[in-house]
Amino acid sequence: MRIDVDALKCIGCMACEMACGYHRDDAFALLASCIVVYRARDKKDYFGVVIKEEESLTIARPEGLEIKRIGVTEESSDSGQKKEADASAKPMLLREPCDLCSGMKYGPMCVKICPVDAISLIEGGE
Ligand code: SF4
Ligand code: SF4
Repeated sequence: MRIDVDALKCIGCMACEMACGYHRDDAFALLASCIVVYRARDKKDYFGVVIKEEESLTIARPEGLEIKRIGVTEESSDSGQKKEADASAKPMLLREPCDLCSGMKYGPMCVKICPVDAISLIEGGE
């Protein structure tokens, strides 16, 4: 199982990021979160979500999903192309990978808290 995000539904509220930080640190600690929301500077209402997983970064953008293998190469689900991972991924690499909220009574916090049902659990993963 893994987390899937439909970025076209995302409204950029950051509730998932806060919930994940709470799972990690028992506080709203955004730097501990393994799910991170970003906004485009030059595009209104453009939101993406990045999830740190054990061996990859999943990047959900309105135009599609991208999976970057940590450390060596990146893969695009759209093109299948591979190239060197870029430096912009580094801050995420310091964070703990998603553990699907192991030990949390109500299951994956980000799935529960998203107000627009943009996050779901799907089969698959590493
Ligand atoms: S399932 Fe839990 S650990 Fe994984 S991204 Fe969501 S809140 Fe974070
Ligand atoms: S909780 Fe849902 S709507 Fe809010 S930022 Fe996360 S994915 Fe987007």
